[in-house]
Amino acid sequence: MSKIISINHSQKSHEKFFIISWNLGNICNYKCSYCPELLHAGDVSFPNKVLIISTLKYLKNQIPKDRKLYVEFTGGEVTLHPEFKAVISALNTLDIKVGIITNGSKPESFWKDIAPKLNHACISYHHEFAREAHFSKVINILSEHTTTHVNIMAPKEGVEGAIKFLTNLSLNNENITIELQPIILHEIETSRELDTYKDDDLRRLRDFKTPKINSTKDPFTTRGDMLVTHEDKSTKQYSAAQIITNKLNVFKGFNCFIGLETLIIDYRGYVFRGKCNVGGPLGHITKRPLTIPTTPIVCNRNHCHCNFDLTVTKEMSEN
Ligand code: SF4
Ligand code: SF4
Repeated sequence: MSKIISINHSQKSHEKFFIISWNLGNICNYKCSYCPELLHAGDVSFPNKVLIISTLKYLKNQIPKDRKLYVEFTGGEVTLHPEFKAVISALNTLDIKVGIITNGSKPESFWKDIAPKLNHACISYHHEFAREAHFSKVINILSEHTTTHVNIMAPKEGVEGAIKFLTNLSLNNENITIELQPIILHEIETSRELDTYKDDDLRRLRDFKTPKINSTKDPFTTRGDMLVTHEDKSTKQYSAAQIITNKLNVFKGFNCFIGLETLIIDYRGYVFRGKCNVGGPLGHITKRPLTIPTTPIVCNRNHCHCNFDLTVTKEMSEN
């Protein structure tokens, strides 16, 4: 196969977003056995509402005028932030698009208030702590108002149960996307090693086809498949996961547009271009100036590992 020379967004509308993924802190009400301790240790407090809003306003002023700012809050469990509803309402008034990644554990009344204010929600089912009935109700509330993606974690001791629950949800819902998520060990260290599943379960996971779910609304998306262009000018569309499984995720020496299309804020408040941390920290949310880069960075990693980083433009450098 001829060499890759670039990867670009396959959907033009995705070029019009600047995405900030902000890990608000490591406070969580669950302690999932497969979750790295540092994501739920609870030893870093949430930044307050004033700091969150002032930081996002400051960064929004720096992004190119033709891009919309989309911020996705992750954790920990972001809905435990005591001012979370007020943060979301303020972002709505500033015309900043907003999404969350959540375990969905808050009561139904919370979700009824917040769902209309979200542009996207990614909700994950963690079998050790979540309850199926509550989770199903939260999905109903979210999907009525916002684009909703559901992850069903498939732990090694419950693959069959996870598939059964996912199938039930897909039969009883519209306007959601849903995915079975095998447990990846040590993802935080950028390894992609699967948990130690029994052979039967591994086969079940590999053979599982996600049921098609009826969709009556246009989904809000900021990222999607990437268009891979080869030296011989041939092109092919891949999802981030397919880029990894086809072993195309090698961009050492490429100009990478992390920092021009994305920023990451970690749970301690440090700001990076991408999840790979290439280029090192750009600064901290409590310190000014905090300047968004204006030129791409040359990749120095052997592999590009995570879906977030993979859905960013990359071009082979001229040198
Ligand atoms: S809900 Fe998420 S952050 Fe909390 S312990 Fe589970 S995997 Fe970790
Ligand atoms: S590892 Fe980082 S710098 Fe390298 S291609 Fe991926 S996102 Fe870009």
